[in-house]
Amino acid sequence: MKIKNRINLLLTLLFLLGINNSFSQSNKFKVTLDAGHGAHDFGATYHGHVEKNIALAVMLKVGKILEKNPNIDVNYTRKTDVFIDLVERANIANRADANIFVSIHCNANKNTAADGTETYVMGLTKNASNLEAAKKENSVITLEKDYKQKYEGYDPNAPESLLGMTLMQEEYLENSIALAGKIQENFANDMGLKNRGVKQAPFMVLHKAYMPRVLIEMGFISNKDEGERLDSEQGQNDTAQAIAEAIVSYKKEFFGEVTNEPVVEKPIRRIYEKPVEEIKKPDTVKKTEVIEQVVNSIDEKGIVFKVQLSASTKKLNLSPSNFKGLKNISSSSTNGLYKYMYGATSSYEEAKKLLQEAKTKGYSTAFLIAFKDGNSINVQDAIK
Ligand SMILES: [Zn+2]
Repeated sequence: MKIKNRINLLLTLLFLLGINNSFSQSNKFKVTLDAGHGAHDFGATYHGHVEKNIALAVMLKVGKILEKNPNIDVNYTRKTDVFIDLVERANIANRADANIFVSIHCNANKNTAADGTETYVMGLTKNASNLEAAKKENSVITLEKDYKQKYEGYDPNAPESLLGMTLMQEEYLENSIALAGKIQENFANDMGLKNRGVKQAPFMVLHKAYMPRVLIEMGFISNKDEGERLDSEQGQNDTAQAIAEAIVSYKKEFFGEVTNEPVVEKPIRRIYEKPVEEIKKPDTVKKTEVIEQVVNSIDEKGIVFKVQLSASTKKLNLSPSNFKGLKNISSSSTNGLYKYMYGATSSYEEAKKLLQEAKTKGYSTAFLIAFKDGNSINVQDAIK
């Protein structure tokens, strides 16, 4: 090959790489991280451990891990010890058009024996201890200027009043549950922490964010052992690693596969041993329900791909007018949660086209699901 040709080839390659790069930039997975509290809002404080500081430290560590991934864009509601309104935290995520919003907190209970981690998704609950958690986190709005005007009609002492304010954003419920489940799983499996489950409660900060979103209670600052873990360098590193890995795993599952995903070097992680003696806990911290993954049963043989559009507690008529004009909508329901799906095909190629079509119609969080003989299976397995 002549030198000139080689140069041309090289230029062409560089040009193509450039296009590829700008494409992947716009196609990045966007994460908004939120460290609870800040400045004069300390959050919970016990035994010298301060929630606002722990939340910030862990959140910055999560961000540092995620920023190493070239396919992820991270933005933050705060990176220093400042006070930010709850609605503004959500709006930072809304303006960034984030794919997920992750709010990081520590739990506390007068019963200092209470321990373990829990991750919340937005929603209705009658469970007293869930409502109590929401009340605690929502009460910080009383520190905001003009909160009565800003959150008109909302009583921070009655978190359930939040639900009457506007129509609930339930489009993202199932994705939120999936993300929360991954976080809880990593806490339990990688760190040996007690899993208090994925829970639902009306949190103001989640309510105002329009994307899959979770609020993590990383452990009880009021518990002596957990407080020490949360306030230690090693404990924060491990907690951050568990959260970051859950986010990457969620991205892989719901944001399409990227072949050049960097391999994350895993630091050595501690397993946090539980005390041998099981401590008796009062009713307020009794084991609460884990929202179970939805199980489908669909009357079809062989492998079938469908596009999941949304999940909701509302039962909708399957007519195209309810689904932005899309036809061939099916639904399934489990435990009061309705899943709405578009199309049905045995071809993965065809399914990808259907997914694209759904996204074009405005279902930006739609994703593919697969069934074998009517049972839900992993999409990767279905492709095989
Ligand atoms: Zn908090």
